[in-house]
Order: sequence, then structure tokens, then C-alpha cells
Amino acid sequence: MTTRLDGKPVAEALDKATRTAIAAVGSGAHPPSLVSVHRGLDSPFRFYLRRQAKAATALGIAFRDLPLEPGDGPEELVATLRSLDRDPAVHGVLVEHPLPPPFDFFRAVDELRPEKDVDGVSPRNLGRLVGQRPVHVPAVARAALAIARHYRLPLDGEAVAVVGRSTTVGLPLAVLLASPPPGANAGVTVLHSKSGDLADRLRGARTIFTCVGRPGLLTRANVPEGAHVVDVGVSSVADPDRPGTQKAVGDADVRSLEGWAGSLTPVPGGVGPVTVAELMAATVRSWQILVRGEGAT
Ligand code: NAP
Repeated sequence: MTTRLDGKPVAEALDKATRTAIAAVGSGAHPPSLVSVHRGLDSPFRFYLRRQAKAATALGIAFRDLPLEPGDGPEELVATLRSLDRDPAVHGVLVEHPLPPPFDFFRAVDELRPEKDVDGVSPRNLGRLVGQRPVHVPAVARAALAIARHYRLPLDGEAVAVVGRSTTVGLPLAVLLASPPPGANAGVTVLHSKSGDLADRLRGARTIFTCVGRPGLLTRANVPEGAHVVDVGVSSVADPDRPGTQKAVGDADVRSLEGWAGSLTPVPGGVGPVTVAELMAATVRSWQILVRGEGAT
């Protein structure tokens, strides 16, 4: 039997801690606030905006979505982020990504001080992660690790694989997994589109984090029997049960892995809700640092 690793209890535990931290907000203080900057409501990001808004509102975090004006380019984005960085009433800022050319996502997001970059994706925050002094770590990486820890998947001293090496997902997750405590102390193999045959490369892996965005990539033909799979990938495919609509799927071929993998996170309902909960927790951490001077580095 393959155990289903639901994200819900992990997200609920995080939200509980976030509520406790928010309850400590003194009267008169700016409440924790999060601003999401994006290219407009017809951007593919709108699904995530709805989820962010809902989660923030439920927790008592002030949330604002801030679309760029039509025709705004890289300089306007930089100016917007500079202004948000100076605003004392804003504690966390998210920026839609990937952004199409001529936008330079990393140049823009580095306008934010590390505390306000709550998704931990700016070059400064990513560098601090490698330097073992993180302020914020990409929420999706923290979420994948939180699920693995919650369900006690083999990590410490174990053979672990990360499939995908993007700067904002695969690589930071690999660093987090390979780092000494509070990292996961795992022996990590990082795979990508040029690293050769997946079945060869995954041999011996006890826990696999897949961060690709390619449905059906992981099957019993390349996943070792009994291995645990944390599926970070999200792709939109036609829903055969509801013609004309789309549904989200992960990288894992669930039918193939059922009864073969030791455990598997579902998509949707696995890493996604925990990522949102991690973003909210990071916003409150920023609020604690910026307003109350707690834990500043
Ligand atoms: P990305 O920038 O497109 O990176 C994909 C990675 O997969 C690249 O490193 C690529 O290798 C690798 N890859 C492509 N084909 C492969 C193959 N056949 N075998 C092995 N590796 C292969 O995507 P991303 O931004 O990292 O996002 C990855 C996935 O995570 C997406 O589905 C995204 O939607 C999802 N995501 C989920 C959450 C969440 O909360 N659940 C949050 C963020 C992202 P190369 O480097 O060689 O091209």
C-alpha cells in the first residue's frame, strides 16, 4: 500500500503557530501585512493570488494584490518594489514569477531587503541560505521539507534525490536537505534534464522530491520500490471527467506508483497548501523582525 501524505495537517499546524504569533500583535501596531505584485489579473498567477488572499484573510494578515499598470516595464517594477521596501506598513512582498523578458525577476526582487522578501527568492536570501544564515528560505522548499518531516520520511543520513534544479525551487530545496541541522543532513543527488537516465540516477534513493512540472515523469519504471515521493510539480491538464475544464496534476504518475512507492503526496492537496501556510508564517516572522525587532540578524 502507498501511504497518501496529505498537506492539510501540516498546513493546519503551521497556521496554528501563525495565529498564536498574530495574537501577540499589540494595539496600535501595524498588523502583519503582505503585498503580492503581479502583471495583472489575467496573469497565470491569479490562481495563487486567490489562495494567498484567502489564507491571509483567514489568519488576520492584511493582504493587498498590486497589479502593474498595462505597459509597465522593468523600471516600473523596480520602482514599485523600492517603494514597498520603504513602506513601514508592509512586512512581506511577493513578486509573480517567472516573468517574461524584458523583466529581470532577480534584479527586481533584490530591491527588497531580505526580511521583506518573504518567499526567500532574492539573490541575497538565496546566498544567505547557502551561507547557513537564512532570513527567508523559498516557501515551497520549506513546505516540501515540512511534509517530509511531519511524516518522518527518511532524510537524515539517507540517500535523497531532488529532481529539478531551478534557482527558486529545486536548488534551494537541495541546499536545505543537504545542510547540517536545522537542515536535513541528507545525502542529496540533484537531477535535471541533462543528468541522464532517471531510473539509473534514482537507484538507491529512499526519498525523492520531484520539482519539474512534467506530468507522468515518475513511474514505477524509475522510482525504486518502497521509495517515498514528495511531489512539488504542478501542471494543468485537461480533466477527462469534466470536459472543457482543467485540473492540477503533479509529476508523479499516481496509478503507476500506487502499491509501489512507500508514500506519495497528492496534487492538489500536498505541497501546495503547505507552501501557502509557509508564506503566511514568513510574513509574520518579518513582522516580528521589522516591527518588534525580534530575531533580527
Ligand atoms: P522550472 O524552472 O521549469 O524548472 C524545472 C526543472 O526541471 C529544471 O531544472 C529542469 O532541468 C528539470 N527538468 C525538466 N525536464 C526534466 C526531466 N525530464 N528529467 C529531470 N529533470 C527535468 O520550474 P520551477 O519553477 O522549478 O517549478 C517546478 C515545478 O514546481 C513546477 O511544476 C511548478 O509549478 C511547481 N511549483 C510548485 C509550488 C507549490 O507550492 N507546490 C511552488 C512553486 C513551483 P534543466 O535545469 O536542465 O532545464
